[in-house]
Amino acid sequence: MHIKLFIPGPVDVAEDVLQKMATPMIGHRTKDASVLQKSISDKMRKLMYTENEILLSTSSGSGLMEGAVRSCTRKKAACFSVGAFGKRWYQMAKANNVPADLFESEAGHPTTPEMVEKALATGEYDLVTVTHNETSTGVMNPVGEISEVMKKYPEVIFCVDTVSSLAGAKIPVDEWGIDICIASTQKCLGLPAGLAITSFSEKAVKAAKEVEFRGMYLDLLLLYETIQKKNYQYPSTPSLSHMFALDYQLDKILEEGFDERFNRHEEMAKYVRAWAMKNFDLFAEDGYRSNTLTTVLNTKGISVKELNEKLGERGFMISNGYGDFKEKTFRIAHMADTTLDDLKELIGHIEDILDL
Ligand SMILES: *Cc1c(COP(=O)(O)O)cnc(C)c1O
Repeated sequence: MHIKLFIPGPVDVAEDVLQKMATPMIGHRTKDASVLQKSISDKMRKLMYTENEILLSTSSGSGLMEGAVRSCTRKKAACFSVGAFGKRWYQMAKANNVPADLFESEAGHPTTPEMVEKALATGEYDLVTVTHNETSTGVMNPVGEISEVMKKYPEVIFCVDTVSSLAGAKIPVDEWGIDICIASTQKCLGLPAGLAITSFSEKAVKAAKEVEFRGMYLDLLLLYETIQKKNYQYPSTPSLSHMFALDYQLDKILEEGFDERFNRHEEMAKYVRAWAMKNFDLFAEDGYRSNTLTTVLNTKGISVKELNEKLGERGFMISNGYGDFKEKTFRIAHMADTTLDDLKELIGHIEDILDL
């Protein structure tokens, strides 16, 4: 039985998109490979509302996050965290011997522009990492407001994790002045995991040139310079299978329309939130709730594990809470190609199982 996934990645992949992964291989140094990779970059630029270069990485999103903090931090990184993924960026910096400080918000609360302003006013930092959509707590950070602060510090590289929101919410990269905007395929883009995408600004290129030890596989400057020299071909063999599927899926996203797609995500979020408020509560602070997943506060003390087991028997799967919140919260993703009808069906089963 196919288990319909309502977990925040990997998401269900449409059959026609999945089939594209089975496209016969082509040589990665052929003209066709260049055309494919350039086509993806052009479409991604539209989806990110940017003129910046796009880099593709055969890794999950974490690879580019590690590459970003390592390749572009010259002095010290300020890592703002509202949960597990924000903290991970700090841990990546430390693991690479990149000087970094961690600025944490209380669980369920956002990173505020004031926090960023206070940190940057010290003059200690030349790179900032912010999570747009924190998948552990269901917080969507006010990146637009934060970007206003960033504009006062033009020498600081602005890195944003949009892994669980890009293609599900509007991320105007150039308007917000984001230098490095990272996404993974297995979340709102609706593909299997294994490819990551980032935008890479001229400012980020310049910063990386000042960093001596950028690693190699995830050296963003090397990726950038190679695709310039080799007509969109990468230093090592990429997952062309993902690329066939991504190129196709981006056409489907363009066909749906960006605004329509973002509105669909918002509509699904509103529906799940209203249901959660009626029966439980929400974990994230009002005004900062994610449009791509909902973290429900388990006020009824139900067994999340048991609920998921019973859902599994019916062909559905949601996610338990992240880390310490395993049983204290549960998460329902409304990402990628999921529809409101899919969610209504899921919620119907949850109500039936829990006798709500
Ligand atoms: C899933 C996720 C990541 C990690 O991405 P991978 O593609 O699994 O490496 C990072 N940040 C956020 C917000 C995520 O949701």
